[in-house]
Amino acid sequence: MDLKSRIRDIPDFPKPGILFRDITTLLADSEALRYSVEQLAHACDALQPDYIAGIESRGFMFGTPLAYRLNLGFAPVRKSGKLPSAVHTAEYELEYGSDRLELHQDAFAPGSRVLIVDDLIATGGTAAAAAELVSMTGCEVAGFGFVIELTGLSGRQKLPEVPIVSLVQY
Ligand code: AMP
Repeated sequence: MDLKSRIRDIPDFPKPGILFRDITTLLADSEALRYSVEQLAHACDALQPDYIAGIESRGFMFGTPLAYRLNLGFAPVRKSGKLPSAVHTAEYELEYGSDRLELHQDAFAPGSRVLIVDDLIATGGTAAAAAELVSMTGCEVAGFGFVIELTGLSGRQKLPEVPIVSLVQY
């Protein structure tokens, strides 16, 4: 399936110069949504994760169905101040701004293998911060799963040396 034809390009969003890759059109297409989750499942099962960590908020949209599909538990990596129990915190940079991410300290059984999922990797700052958080819980990053990779930004160079899956590249 040609997933790129299901992804909508929005120039100059959320600010001038950014070409936003909009996955709402992919999510609205039942075949494309199922295909994306199946493709991620196929590629990520071999990494033998015990949990999925999905990054707020579009990482939830692919991470949770992937966890369901692979029969794994899920934990949300959230923006600052959203999680109710004790958290680990990491700073991160976006293609358009900077912020903090948090993860519950007891999100995973210690020593587990955790697959980090987001819709898109750009500069890699967000996913790298999520990896730091997983390490703070005493767990191992099993790999990363993205629907979209913006290869020109070399985001994967910021990530630890574990397998990185992306379904489409721009
Ligand atoms: P980065 O930390 O630079 O890898 O940015 C990744 C995060 O920002 C992901 O959660 C994406 O959803 C979002 N993001 C960054 N750039 C874009 C883009 N061009 N189109 C859509 N989302 C983006």
